[in-house]
Amino acid sequence: MCGIVGYVGQHAVGPILLKGLKRLEYRGYDSSGVALFDEGGRSETFKAAGKIAAIEPMVLAKDQTLFHGGIGHTRWATHGAPNTTNAHPHRVKDLVLVHNGIIENYREIQKLVYARGYKPVSETDSELFAFLVMFEMEEHKIDLIEGVRRAFPKIHGSSSVVIMSEKQPGLIVAVRNGSPLVAGWNKEFGAIVASDAQPILDHTNKVYYLENGDMIVCQKSGIQFFDAYSGKPVERKEVTIDWSADRLDKNGYAHYMLKEIHEQPRTILDTLHAYFEDQTHRPFEFAKNAGIDQLSAAQRLSIIACGTSWHAGLLGRYWFERYTHLPVDTDLASEFRYRNSHFTPGQVVMGISQSGETADTLAVLQDVNKNKVPTLAITNVKGSTISREAKSIFYTYAGPEIGVASTKAFTAQMLMLVLLAGRLGRDLAVNDSQGKKMIEIDRLYRELFEVPHYLSMALETGGSTANAVKKAAQDTLHSKAFFFIGRGYSFPLALEGALKLKEIAYVHAEGYAAGELKHGPIAMLEPGVTVIVIAPKDIWYDKTVSNLQEVKARGAKIVAVGHADDKTLASMADHFIPLPLQSKKPDGQSTLDESLTPFLISPILQLLSYEIALSKGTDIDQPRNLAKSVTVE
Ligand code: GLU
Repeated sequence: MCGIVGYVGQHAVGPILLKGLKRLEYRGYDSSGVALFDEGGRSETFKAAGKIAAIEPMVLAKDQTLFHGGIGHTRWATHGAPNTTNAHPHRVKDLVLVHNGIIENYREIQKLVYARGYKPVSETDSELFAFLVMFEMEEHKIDLIEGVRRAFPKIHGSSSVVIMSEKQPGLIVAVRNGSPLVAGWNKEFGAIVASDAQPILDHTNKVYYLENGDMIVCQKSGIQFFDAYSGKPVERKEVTIDWSADRLDKNGYAHYMLKEIHEQPRTILDTLHAYFEDQTHRPFEFAKNAGIDQLSAAQRLSIIACGTSWHAGLLGRYWFERYTHLPVDTDLASEFRYRNSHFTPGQVVMGISQSGETADTLAVLQDVNKNKVPTLAITNVKGSTISREAKSIFYTYAGPEIGVASTKAFTAQMLMLVLLAGRLGRDLAVNDSQGKKMIEIDRLYRELFEVPHYLSMALETGGSTANAVKKAAQDTLHSKAFFFIGRGYSFPLALEGALKLKEIAYVHAEGYAAGELKHGPIAMLEPGVTVIVIAPKDIWYDKTVSNLQEVKARGAKIVAVGHADDKTLASMADHFIPLPLQSKKPDGQSTLDESLTPFLISPILQLLSYEIALSKGTDIDQPRNLAKSVTVE
């Protein structure tokens, strides 16, 4: 995930690119760069590790009257460490490009580049695309536009590329497949293209959203739209964006909750940044924290929490059990507190609370401390009571969450738990020289860095996932009850999905382990009831699909969430919500490991609740009877 801005026109290029990139920093900010082109076709590139501020003085020191076009990038590294060399733009001969996404077949392309006697400068997948364009241009004696068009189908995965050439300095060519691109133009200003509308709205409120497979050519005089595969011109509708001051407060979103749902890719980036201090290291080095030693010494872990945090804790159990040998139990703080719990030697108690003030969780930690059992906490609020009460603390980096129903804070809690499970598991693997486990955890960590990319695809307004969510919401809105079912990781997600719907839409919803359906709740199923079946391709998949059949036979409406290439599931459901993941790519691997699908499924279910609540007209940000931090029992 990254931010891209490209501009060609009569205004000062540097400041336009810098301001636009700052608006996109939420998309990634580990390194940044800008390339400026003058009329004669000479270009200059400015790159640095870190945020836009790192390149700003270099860019602004230049005489801006010299330049008439350029491209810029703020990066969230997927391939290669976040350093200056790997920062975009990348240059290959006269070609200069910025890229958002992942080129899945980059190894093949890399081989081709080496075979032809070239050596890429960076470790990125992105630079390789410039070679492909160059090969096409040289081989077929064609210009930049045609070169990009021929090269683009050769890369797999979701990517958007914005590219310029010193030989045709008046043009910016942009192609989109997956990662979003928006463009705008007006006569006095020129043409601009960016990863979202925000950098464009400073100049015009009339924008064009590129569709997958679109290629545009931006010039001072206007923008042309093509189908990147056939080369034929296509028409794209101009969309006028209407921003009121109130909406601006929410950064353009109708509600804080929607804004916070969309902020989740950034939440993940921020939390990863905080815990993997030095990302140049492979394997990533986990930040030092006394809690790690406590966990490493634990012989049993008890997670206690309330509400949404409890659901995170339930998920934590699955991750700890998969990646470590630690026995884990997850309990409701309000129950744990008044039971005759018996502590065993080596037991560690971990409290999870978004606000750090949750009364029951705090009380448990206080009691446990009195019993001299080591305590840990996960919370989003620095200096909160729980953060002071626990002996060790892991902060999440969701930032302020204003919507009362938790969204991004939950995601940050999940992330913290999977990070800790991986961290402990890795120690175990090192000590026991378990090669397989080590590979598994290295894959987990590597793929965590790809999650924000897939999550932003899932959440993209107008994208296939978000559209399917909207349709399902509109069609099921008047159901008399909702059941959310899932197995494995999807069971806690079912509980959380149902809770979210209750909280903000005030409809009856229950979450169940799919295997529990026939132990009672199936009696409730009949037409007029909706069942949300969470069935990603994982080890529980076949069993969940059998449960789906049982639901179908009772006439309930089915909304299924699964991998995008799961035609079977899609054919059985009334509504199919595709995760932007493939269960089997050509190399036989899934896009993401099954343990990471919760990071996509949970935000999608939040969006579903949001859409239903929106249609019902409830007070989404401040639902009745609720409060953000529950400081009473
Ligand atoms: N895969 C590219 C890289 O690692 C682009 C990542 C992004 O979208 O920021 O540089």
